[in-house]
Parts: sequence; structure tokens; C-alpha cells
Amino acid sequence: MWCGVVSCRAVLWCDVVPCADAFTAIHSDEAIARLAKLSRTATVPADDEHTAGDVIAFRQFRAQLVKEGWWKRNPLYELWFIVMVWALVGFGTYLAVYTNQRLLAIAVIGLAMQQSGWTGHDYQHGRGTFCWWVGHATAGFINGFSPVWWSGKHNTHHVFPNFHGTDEDIANDPIFHLWIPEKDKDHWIRKYQAWYFLPVCAFLYVSWRLQSFQTAKARVSNKY
Ligand SMILES: [Zn+2]
Repeated sequence: MWCGVVSCRAVLWCDVVPCADAFTAIHSDEAIARLAKLSRTATVPADDEHTAGDVIAFRQFRAQLVKEGWWKRNPLYELWFIVMVWALVGFGTYLAVYTNQRLLAIAVIGLAMQQSGWTGHDYQHGRGTFCWWVGHATAGFINGFSPVWWSGKHNTHHVFPNFHGTDEDIANDPIFHLWIPEKDKDHWIRKYQAWYFLPVCAFLYVSWRLQSFQTAKARVSNKY
């Protein structure tokens, strides 16, 4: 149930750190209900009082935010972002197909894809049927990203942000290094990364599509 959403490695981390809050934050009510039906193992206690205090403070802060209305959705605000993305897609496609404004078409479609990435991000994090459809239609249909591949990678990033060895969003070596690697894992190209960072980022969507395609192909073959 959860390995498709948070990577199995992250679930293993849950054996040693308290992660009930992380689980409930990124799963639907249906998934939480299914979890409650599973058999339980011995609970691992928090490693020290400091951690337990942090967890309690987090829960109180979250409850306060819910009480203040931060969890209430604004339909007009959401409609604006959805319509804006699809309007940009339509306008950019119109320019490309029916006019000679090719450069403008590239700019408009590029903006549409960028906005679709973030709108898709938000809805992919969302829960429920409406979020599922909007997330799949924007990030999936417009940008060609696999929601399954993305969720497995990205939800782990939120649960274990910047955890070396667990957070795949920061595992970009040997192309990009966020820290100095061990000697046997170092690469000569690392000293030039400040120069090639932006040009290489231009191929990010290509890389994500390739990984999405690989995931989709593996799923068809029942290997994922
Ligand atoms: Zn996110």
C-alpha cells in the first residue's frame, strides 16, 4: 500500500524514527483506515525526550494551523491555476499550429509546462478523487511525468528532506554534487558544476520523462 507512495527505503527508516505524522500527512483517509486494519508490531519508542518534544510541538503547531483555517480550500483560487495552465497550453498550441509566431509559441508552451509542473506537484500531493484527476491531467498529460514515479521519489523527499542516502531528490551525482563526496565516488567534472548547472537543468524534463517512461514500462511488465 505505501511502497508506491513513499519508497521502501523510507519505510525502513520508519522503523527507527517516529513517522506516524509523516504517514498521515501524505496519505488519504482511505489509506489510513487500511493501515489501521493491518497487524501491529512492537512500537519503537522515541529515541530521546528531545525528539518526543519536537513531535509533540509539531502536532500542536499543525492543530493550530488547522484551527486557523489554513487547511480550508479556496475553489476560486484553485480554479484560477487550473484554467491558467490549460489556457496557456491552448494558446501556445494555437500559436504553433496556426501562426508563424513560433518563438512566442515556445515561450508560452514553456511557461505552461513550468506552471503545469507546480500545479501537478500540488495536486499530486493532494488527496481525493478531484486531486487525483487534476494531478494526472496536468503533470501527466501536459508534461508526460508518471505520477507513480514522481510520488515515490518526491514524497520521500518531504518525509526525509535532504537525508543523504534516502532523499532521491538530492541524489543527482555524479552530475550535481550537493556535498563533497568520498574520494572513490568523486568525479573530475564536479569542479565545473557551477558552470554547467543551468545548461544541464534545461534537460531536467527530458530526464524526468525518461524515468517516467521506464517506470510505466516496468509497471506494464509487472516489475514495479
Ligand atoms: Zn512537494
